[in-house]
Amino acid sequence: MQQAEIGLIGLGVMGSNLALNIAEKGNRIAVFNRTPARTDEFLGEAGELADRIIGCHTIEEFVAAIRPPRPIIIMIKAGDAVDQQMAALMPFLAKNDIMIDAGNANFRDTVARFEKLAGTDFTFIGMGVSGGEEGARHGPSIMVGGTEESWKRVEPVLTSIAAKFNDEPCVAWLGTDGAGHFVKTIHNGIEYADMQMIAEIYGILRDGLKMSAAEIGEIFGQWNKGRLNSYLIEITEKVLKAIDPETGKPMVDVIVDAAGQKGTGKWSAIEAQNLAVAASGIEAAVSGRVLSSLRAERLAAEKLFGLPTLAETPADKAAFIADLENALLAAKIAAYAQGFAVMSAASTEFNWSLPMPTIARIWRAGCIIRSQFLDEITSAFTKDPNVPNLVVTPAFAAMVKETDGALRRVVAHAALSGLPVPAIASALSYFDTYRRGRGTANLIQAQRDFFGAHGFDRLDGKDVHHGPWAGQF
Ligand code: NDP
Repeated sequence: MQQAEIGLIGLGVMGSNLALNIAEKGNRIAVFNRTPARTDEFLGEAGELADRIIGCHTIEEFVAAIRPPRPIIIMIKAGDAVDQQMAALMPFLAKNDIMIDAGNANFRDTVARFEKLAGTDFTFIGMGVSGGEEGARHGPSIMVGGTEESWKRVEPVLTSIAAKFNDEPCVAWLGTDGAGHFVKTIHNGIEYADMQMIAEIYGILRDGLKMSAAEIGEIFGQWNKGRLNSYLIEITEKVLKAIDPETGKPMVDVIVDAAGQKGTGKWSAIEAQNLAVAASGIEAAVSGRVLSSLRAERLAAEKLFGLPTLAETPADKAAFIADLENALLAAKIAAYAQGFAVMSAASTEFNWSLPMPTIARIWRAGCIIRSQFLDEITSAFTKDPNVPNLVVTPAFAAMVKETDGALRRVVAHAALSGLPVPAIASALSYFDTYRRGRGTANLIQAQRDFFGAHGFDRLDGKDVHHGPWAGQF
């Protein structure tokens, strides 16, 4: 039988769809799954594409089915499973074969895997894939980390399967070792913030304006035709309008309000802190999911404290809904600005030269945060790739100025009504702190010097770095 051009291990949700995508683009692919029954099931699901798929039940058979030098995608549960799978694979590989970890790895694990393989005959690629099941099947956004030489070898097949935005493929080589997985992590961090902010607006409409799920869905549907146009807003309309077949109630109304998480949001927040970058929107979103999971505690606390009285609904409801749309846009700008600032700091720290316009470009389609908005970010970074913060680019500064009032009114209304908006409020505080030339950290510096003799700089530049504390008290 003719050998395959590529191999894929892991026929779960992502791997099986990616394998079908690869086969559909005319490539012959060999597949292997830890549980062999899944391989047979998958071949049964592949329809006509099964002709281009070689199902293998042992690793030995799998490796032999691929033409050397072999590119092998590993799309399995992230973490130790990847190390175990690589260890099982390596005895059968030959010089120049490439192992591509396409799962949601922590980029620090990816860097460690590169170090472990340095000096061996094998090549490694750490590759972030976004787009969920649909994206994997019909075109994901793909973020590649590794050597440029290894990228060149996999570029044709990855370009063929990636999503396209205006015919441009949403795949790129972003830098060495962990660059691809780092960018994927921050993508997910931004995704957390985006989803949290959407949920906070939903909360104001549901609990403040007492609107039904279907009515709120209608509003998101309208917003999807405007500047908020994005995949997440599109699916928000759909999920809000969906009905539970069991009860006939809106689906969202029967779902427990406790969000799950697998780690990429938390890693984004941790890396932001490690790099000394303020990413308060992402941090608020991770904390929001943590608090959401404390359902029993929240129910008990509501019994203890009751809920605050709602502030009066603004007289002009349509104007308030327009404010909510603009507040969401403003908050989204803060979250994306923070995410890109984290990547910029990481690029310097890890010597990656991360290309900001390219990252925005490959997120415009295929991935979960895909949107019109990312096309605007692409333009802003293309005009000025080294700008310190997205919010000061001319296009985004204009948007921030335009939406500032709405953001302020929405946060104030939510605060007076006791409606939690931690991510949206964090965006307002972020802007207000970032835009103020004279902040309040002079007091913090004085306190630090008072209790720890940490010293400070003076505005007048004089070479005196400690206060007169001891002498005056
Ligand atoms: P699934 O749970 O659907 O599938 C997991 C796969 O991993 C199965 O093929 C499973 O094999 C295999 N596996 C688990 N443990 C081991 C092990 N110890 N050794 C070998 N194989 C193992 O996961 P997904 O397809 O959703 O996710 C795969 C990767 O892609 C993860 O890293 C995930 O974070 C990432 N990802 C997921 C996205 C999504 O939307 N689902 C989006 C982007 C990335 P078996 O059948 O034998 O159990």
